[in-house]
Amino acid sequence: MPQLHAIRADITKLQVDAIVNAANSSLLGGGGVDGAIHRAAGPDLVHECRLLGGCKTGQAKITKGYRLPASCIIHTVGPVWRGGLQGEPDLLASCYRNSLELAASKQLHSLAFPSISTGIYGYPVELAARVAVNTVREFGSELSSIKDVIFCCFSDGDLALYEVTLRANSD
Ligand code: ADP
Repeated sequence: MPQLHAIRADITKLQVDAIVNAANSSLLGGGGVDGAIHRAAGPDLVHECRLLGGCKTGQAKITKGYRLPASCIIHTVGPVWRGGLQGEPDLLASCYRNSLELAASKQLHSLAFPSISTGIYGYPVELAARVAVNTVREFGSELSSIKDVIFCCFSDGDLALYEVTLRANSD
């Protein structure tokens, strides 16, 4: 079972085996965390991303980290929130599952997730935190290479929610 932590940080600064990017389906960069990752990684990232042919919602693809302290970037596309009855929870869980699976297939040990879909895509963060924590708990235990999973929050409010969620589901 991996160790799960929540921290408040800029994900582009983290020295882990892989950071996860909340990308859009083009994989060619965008706003929010995606823009920050592309700026910090440098222009070689978009060149590699162009070769990947995009990514469907709930799926994940991996690139090198270029100028980031992280070795790799796992790009996943979260669902746009449309009220919660359009399959959003399953799609968001798929983002976490497919990212973990990809990391394990590359024998990576440490992984940091942003709060996928909870920015521009509008997913309520308290609901998204529950999906994130539950999916990593359920699925992470099957993947022996994964030792550390960080939930990288960008605000104190998000961090507080993730901490509550981690505590509530720890027994
Ligand atoms: P989405 O389109 O999936 O909603 P966003 O990038 O808009 O993606 O937001 C996802 C989360 O990433 C939000 O909680 C946002 O505050 C956060 N975020 C934005 N920049 C960074 C960053 N540099 N490091 C970590 N998290 C970030």
